[in-house]
Amino acid sequence: EILFQETYHQPTYEQVHRAGPKRNFDYHLTAFDRAHEAGIGDVGGGVLFGLADPRFEVLALMIHNEHLDECFHSGFHTISVPRLCAASGMSLADFPHLVDDATFERVVAIIRLAVPFTGMILSTRESHEMRGKLLKLGISQISAGSSTEVGGYAKRARNEAANPQFYVNDKRDALDILSELMDDGYIPSFCTACYRSGRTGDRFMSLAKSGQIKNVCLPNALMTLTEYATDYGGEAFRAKAFAAIGQNLPGIANERMRAKAAENIEQIKRGAHDFYV
Ligand code: SF4
Repeated sequence: EILFQETYHQPTYEQVHRAGPKRNFDYHLTAFDRAHEAGIGDVGGGVLFGLADPRFEVLALMIHNEHLDECFHSGFHTISVPRLCAASGMSLADFPHLVDDATFERVVAIIRLAVPFTGMILSTRESHEMRGKLLKLGISQISAGSSTEVGGYAKRARNEAANPQFYVNDKRDALDILSELMDDGYIPSFCTACYRSGRTGDRFMSLAKSGQIKNVCLPNALMTLTEYATDYGGEAFRAKAFAAIGQNLPGIANERMRAKAAENIEQIKRGAHDFYV
């Protein structure tokens, strides 16, 4: 479950949520407690940087994470770091706490150092250049080819004009972004193995905190990238992906796991799907 607090600063929260069920600050703040009590082990939080003082927001995020960890043995599975940007029907001049690039880089680096085992998600709102910098500072997940309009993907499929809620800075399509990630030495992963095999909540956190999770992340990344490249890539993309996969395969430390991943990758190239460990 992903749910943004938007801001932990209650007066600002109430100022920007003037009506509707989300207006109740306390109810919104305790949503993850109810999610855990109802059996949802993986929760993802985040604030919209730019609404209130970023130093207050980072501290509040960390205190919230600590509370979840203490009560449910599982803090945030992911933390999202959207930054306030221009949107239809609003003016940025109304917001005194806008976060400049240098401060935003510090925010990402501080969260990464504080919770090294937590996924950090960045949106398409950031420019191509900022995404490159922030990936180096700790972002682990990015979106690509996103639409910020309600029903936007269906409109795109029908080739209709878009009317976005807010403006996206990185307009490149998914293949361009993936290709550049590989140029920079990253392996894009489409893995969802933990959710699918029940490695969630405190079970996931103990593997993540000990670093053991990396033993399955790399084989899963290589297998899912093979599948994506085989299904959606053109000839040049496939060649780049298969070269990167070949270079990274020896990085799987466990010999049996490495042999199994290599065998699965060959099967995926011949049209098989959905391997994961
Ligand atoms: S195995 Fe897959 S789902 Fe689990 S942490 Fe690694 S990349 Fe994420």
